[in-house]
Amino acid sequence: MQPGLRRELWVIGTLVAGTLIAGAVFGYPLWFLAFGLGVYLAVAVRNLISLHRWLLSKKQQPLPEARGLWGDVFNEIHLLEKETAQHRDRLRDMLTRFQEAASALPDGMVILTQQGEIVWANPSARSLLGISHPRDSGQRINNLIRHPEFNDYLEDAEFTESVELSAPLKPDNTLSVQIVPYGGNQRLLVCRDITHVVRLEEMRQNFVANASHELRSPITVLSGYLETLQDMDLNRTAEIKRALATMYNQARRMERLVSDLLALSRLETAAPQATPESIVDVPAMLASLKESAEMLSGEDRHQITLSAAPMLRLRGNEEQLRSVFSNLIDNAVRYTPPGGAIEIGWRNANNWAIFSVKDDGVGIPWQHIPHLTERFYRVDVDRSRESGGTGLGLAIVKHVLKRHDARLNIESLVGKGSTFTCKFPPERVVMTTVGESLPKAGEQS
Ligand code: ADP
Repeated sequence: MQPGLRRELWVIGTLVAGTLIAGAVFGYPLWFLAFGLGVYLAVAVRNLISLHRWLLSKKQQPLPEARGLWGDVFNEIHLLEKETAQHRDRLRDMLTRFQEAASALPDGMVILTQQGEIVWANPSARSLLGISHPRDSGQRINNLIRHPEFNDYLEDAEFTESVELSAPLKPDNTLSVQIVPYGGNQRLLVCRDITHVVRLEEMRQNFVANASHELRSPITVLSGYLETLQDMDLNRTAEIKRALATMYNQARRMERLVSDLLALSRLETAAPQATPESIVDVPAMLASLKESAEMLSGEDRHQITLSAAPMLRLRGNEEQLRSVFSNLIDNAVRYTPPGGAIEIGWRNANNWAIFSVKDDGVGIPWQHIPHLTERFYRVDVDRSRESGGTGLGLAIVKHVLKRHDARLNIESLVGKGSTFTCKFPPERVVMTTVGESLPKAGEQS
């Protein structure tokens, strides 16, 4: 039992015993007891009234003083009050420090409600987005940032990636905007000026495009002469013949590299709307790619099968889609030992169009899978080179699929084989009926 409570019970006991004894002396024990309890009650009511008054004064008056259990109660309240005040001060300090830090940040920060109303913004948000606190507090963010991409980003409410926008105050500048949900129903918008990064990326893309373009002619000339030299019936030693063959193979490799680099930089730089789209007869395309794969397989005699839904067509760029399918099918041939099985599939699932290539080849260790679409990423550099790879095939696949709103999925087990799957969304799927003629390439449907 608490010492305060024990003391109080002792006081009550003493009061009851004392009044009863005194009452017995005078012959009125019950009257004395009633009087003693009345006094006790009066003291309790007085303390209760003092406490009530103190609470009503919003704790402005000093805390009332009392003895006994009431004194303990007042002391406890006093301690609680002190702790709450300290906690409040600490919170206020933290908030001030946070606001000072956020004000010093070069990145713009805006706190939003779940409905997109502005709660608070740091000074950088004013220079980057034109949003100022407290002037714009309570306004909806999409009334101030009027960009269709930003509207879509807000409506999608996924916020897994950032969105790039032209700066509202300086349209030549590019901003990266990311929303981070926090605390259940709040959102933090963080924005950064990435103009210099975008310019550097443009410079890099232009450099790669120009360098590849300039290299193409000399390399073609070199490999052409090397091929002619190899074919000429001259008296040569075995060593010179070997050297010529190596030089020719390397020149061909450079040709492939330059052509893949050019394809990649075209994909990176050309605006999506500049790419002509048509309704592509994917089953016919896959049938011809299967034949090419059989030629590539040659003496290795892979068992290549094709199962394609004949009416299933795709809206997209024919040349780009061919490069995706041929890259994935060629990879299956190149990374599957002789005699292995390769299944090419083209089917419809829940209105999505699914292209898949399954092989029972070497497989890919799981830790490499997330990196395969990076430029020049190879699991086994020697095997890739031996089989004529450039390390750019899957990077091209990734870019083309992005342009076609499609997803790439890779499943693989070392020694068991791999399955590469491309999923095209329903908006791109076209089902034809038997005998229906297809619009010509470049024709918009
Ligand atoms: P590469 O020209 O080297 O084949 P890619 O970009 O096409 O370049 O592929 C990247 C890497 O992914 C390859 O080097 C290879 O290690 C791995 N890879 C791609 N397809 C397969 C496959 N079907 N089976 C096993 N590994 C594969």
